[in-house]
Amino acid sequence: MAVPMLELAPQNASVKDQILQGLSAIIDRSSFVLGENVKGLEAELAEYSGARYAVGMSSGTDALLIALMALDIKHGDEVILPSFTFFATAGVVSRLGATPVFIDIDPETFNITGALVEAAITPRTKAIIPVHLFGQLAEMPAIMAVADRHGIPVLEDACQSLGAKGWGRSAGQFGQMTGCSFYPTKNLGAFGDAGMTLIKDDEKLAAKVRRLRVHGMEPVYVHHEIGMNGRIDEFQGLVLRAKLPMLEGWHEGRRRHAQWYIERLGAIAPDEMALPLEKIPEGRHIYNQFTVRVKAGRRDALMAHLRGLGIGCAIYYPIGLHEQPCFEYLGYKKGQLAESELAAAEVLSLPVYPEMTPAMREEVAQGLLGFFGKK
Ligand SMILES: *Cc1c(COP(=O)(O)O)cnc(C)c1O
Repeated sequence: MAVPMLELAPQNASVKDQILQGLSAIIDRSSFVLGENVKGLEAELAEYSGARYAVGMSSGTDALLIALMALDIKHGDEVILPSFTFFATAGVVSRLGATPVFIDIDPETFNITGALVEAAITPRTKAIIPVHLFGQLAEMPAIMAVADRHGIPVLEDACQSLGAKGWGRSAGQFGQMTGCSFYPTKNLGAFGDAGMTLIKDDEKLAAKVRRLRVHGMEPVYVHHEIGMNGRIDEFQGLVLRAKLPMLEGWHEGRRRHAQWYIERLGAIAPDEMALPLEKIPEGRHIYNQFTVRVKAGRRDALMAHLRGLGIGCAIYYPIGLHEQPCFEYLGYKKGQLAESELAAAEVLSLPVYPEMTPAMREEVAQGLLGFFGKK
């Protein structure tokens, strides 16, 4: 049986009728941008995340970019962030002319820590972007303590982790602002590109984020800042509102698969393949990705083996950002961020979407166990 890395059609079929009806109403109203569905979605996502304000954006990338614009990040500023993340986290920093300062990760969680942040702070540090990679929160209490001590704002990158929890709070309730993505492969996926900037509690900051989304304009044709077009479509608002009531169930479905994998794959020695670790006591990893570490240089062989069996798998991410051609000018050296480089060489993500059947996950497990000579 083939098991794809991700299959969106079954989930989307479950909301298709509701969305088609809503689309018909949108066409009748012919109000396509920032309409009543977007307003509704913003209120519902503020409620869901526990952040006071939510501002719908055209993508996760724009949600992060506009948040940094609201903090006046500019040329000469430094922004601390992990090397081991999706490109957008750093791309938005460079877009504003600022300098990304890449730091290393905790190898057990793939996330940055308070101590690693502290070591990278300089007088030019103007923001910190912890990424909650794969669905697990970064070490937020320690990161916030360091940031607060130095008076530096924190922008959470929750593009993979809306709904992740730890220390009695959720993604979006730690940093001053948070960027979320609804790209179709995220746990809450739109029918195209969409995102959201969450603002924890600062009303002025929320107003500025809202203004920057429409070219810094308020009222019409009066421009206070040089903003951009970061607006979200009414149709994506409709889709996301239809799906939001199911999101908790989908997170739990992913967690059930993850816990099952962790038990079923326990026979594989950790020095051959390490399983994901939920490190936060009473936290909730929402498993946007179930990512193992394959040791001893065997990752690519395992990937070929699984693909030969028709089992989907993928590498997120094969190259740390400090080693990307476009960041060569920053002058990082090989070995400088050793844990990020090792992670890039060892990680492999496996299918973990909630609609997978028990037979499908057993197929994945047998593919892995077979490769390592186990049953
Ligand atoms: C998906 C993602 C983004 C960007 O979101 P888009 O909606 O694709 O623009 C940013 N950061 C991380 C960690 C992501 O996974």
